[in-house]
Amino acid sequence: MAAQTDTPSRKREPRPKKDPALRNKMYKYRLYPTRKQADTLEWILRRCKEIYNAALQERTEAYRMCGVSVTYDMQAAQLPAIKEDRPEFQAIYSQVLQDVLQRMKKAMDTFFRRVTNGETPGYPRYKSNSRYHSFTYPQGGYDILGVPSSLKKNGKKTGKLALSKIGHIKMVVHRPIKGTIKTCTINHEGDQWYACLSVDYRFDASQAFHPSTEQVGIDVGITNYAVLSNGEVIENPRISRATEEKIKAAHRQLAPRKQGSHRCNRAKRELTRLYRKTRHRRQDFLHKAARRLVNQYGTLVFEDLQIMNMSARPQPKKDEATGAFLPNGAAAKGGLNKSIRDAAWGTFTRLCASKAEEAGCTVAKVAPHHTSQICSGCGAMVPKDLSVRWHSCPTCRAELDRDENAARTILARYLHPETPLVHPKKKASRRSKNASDGAGRVPQEFEVVQATPDSCRSPQL
Ligand SMILES: [Zn+2]
Repeated sequence: MAAQTDTPSRKREPRPKKDPALRNKMYKYRLYPTRKQADTLEWILRRCKEIYNAALQERTEAYRMCGVSVTYDMQAAQLPAIKEDRPEFQAIYSQVLQDVLQRMKKAMDTFFRRVTNGETPGYPRYKSNSRYHSFTYPQGGYDILGVPSSLKKNGKKTGKLALSKIGHIKMVVHRPIKGTIKTCTINHEGDQWYACLSVDYRFDASQAFHPSTEQVGIDVGITNYAVLSNGEVIENPRISRATEEKIKAAHRQLAPRKQGSHRCNRAKRELTRLYRKTRHRRQDFLHKAARRLVNQYGTLVFEDLQIMNMSARPQPKKDEATGAFLPNGAAAKGGLNKSIRDAAWGTFTRLCASKAEEAGCTVAKVAPHHTSQICSGCGAMVPKDLSVRWHSCPTCRAELDRDENAARTILARYLHPETPLVHPKKKASRRSKNASDGAGRVPQEFEVVQATPDSCRSPQL
């Protein structure tokens, strides 16, 4: 089965080494197509979906019936014949269609790579209209018109995106593009259209200089979004909690409506709008909070949290005698998990790291173990559960907020990575019992890791 991946017999040229100073960024702009243009865009989306499904069917059937592994090259070679047979496909820019086949290849490659790795991936699926949202101009066929002069302060920011075989679509360029545009993807989100421009640009690290030398530890949480080691608090906007009721109501409205009916489509549009609004509000908050921290402080220290593990479902509990399931607190944990995902700490640290790189600010991550239990004043262990919001140390008489104490401990861990911070009582933890490296030694995770945008990448929340 692994033979399905595209491996041509001829030897491939070694890839040229990537320029280490080269960075990639995505700019997303809102499009305002006329009704006619929107119809064209939607029509192209439907045709792309059709090609995608046909390509998937060809690959599946050819292998099932004849054991033939169809490759990208074989499918791309059929495009001219398809255009002859179905002349309406001539109205689509040819590279857009090629890109659809590239997506198919990518889906198949990913599937077989995961199978080879022993995972259990789902087979690439046939896409319905509601699962196919975008098409891409991978090389050319697009141009941005009338933007430089229109980006003046307070001036109109409306430009045009010229798309081959579609026309000039109104686009609001709310910020200037820096770099070379590589690809252009047209995205349909509910009833709105966006252009996503992937841009390559050169980044010179020697030019980045941060005026501040102030270092802060940051403890992220649910009660407060973040507490800094200097006592500053970023409040939690609880974004999805704000729209939760509306989303629930929209789901209730959609549920009984007949699939494909106008009323059903209207309810779907409303639901998409609510989800989009929530997403945009969260992104807005995260970007602004990250920007403020990066502008103000020279070094930001975070905990290296395992968010996937933190928001995992609790294990079911069984009664040994009867085999019946006992309460395991799943409902309460479900509510906490919702808050954890809503907070999007992973995205936040990733945004901080990527903004920090350009601003010449440092972002570091330290081991997260017992940061809220250890006293930042004397290093003693002061056990407390989640409900205790105040840290009072019996050893050094330190009195401060629980989260601020944690933030200070995080900063101390960054400044003195050599200090063993594990309390003697905690020496024989499960981790060190299993490992034969001896109890009481500072675990490897206590090393400070320098965060880069890549190392901070977490799964989409
Ligand atoms: Zn203390």
